Amino acid sequence: DFRRAKYLLSAPDISFLPPDTGIEVAFAGRSNAGKSSALNTMTDQKGLAKTSKTPGRTQMINLFEVAEDRRLVDLPGYGFAQVPLEMKKKWQKALAEYLEKRRCLRGVVVMMDCRHPLKDLDANMVRWSVAADLPVLVLLTKADKLKQAAKQKTLRDVKAELTEFGGEIKVQLFSSLKGTGRGEAIAHIGRWLDP
Ligand code: GDP
Repeated sequence: DFRRAKYLLSAPDISFLPPDTGIEVAFAGRSNAGKSSALNTMTDQKGLAKTSKTPGRTQMINLFEVAEDRRLVDLPGYGFAQVPLEMKKKWQKALAEYLEKRRCLRGVVVMMDCRHPLKDLDANMVRWSVAADLPVLVLLTKADKLKQAAKQKTLRDVKAELTEFGGEIKVQLFSSLKGTGRGEAIAHIGRWLDP
């Protein structure tokens, strides 16, 4: 039950994560994709993950515990233009290493604003996850912003593009505002956490 999620700790980078035991699911996305809102919606806790953080601020990796040794890992939002290239490279390296080496990691949720999905960094995130043999759940967020036909077209297009990535990738619409796709997403992530 995601509603029992509790804040566990914040890590300044991947080397500060807790011991590699139990099961973890990571949440990634461009900043402003709606990741915090989605986490709050899924856990039914308004203030769990902070929304609309100051752009460019160095972000921590936030961990939430949904059950004993079952964690949600909120990765820093990517795509800030202001972040120096050196820092971006360092982070990408650490991220790739996390995806590859973290044994308790069983799945990656990638959030994309449904109005502009699959930007380069999103594609990279999915590619690295697939390369690390991790299943991916793509949430097309803010689905309430599109009309029915446009939503369905986006869903079809993103699915088609991601087919070429290989791996185990599921794509669905999501809206924190309307609750669209909440149950579906929770069920999917729940199967990773409780295989
Ligand atoms: P994050 O940076 O990925 O954590 O994104 P946030 O959760 O902070 O959301 C970024 C902005 O998008 C905020 O202004 C939210 O209110 C808005 N937002 C998030 N989810 C939704 C949604 O489902 N529908 C709409 N219309 N706006 C949303």
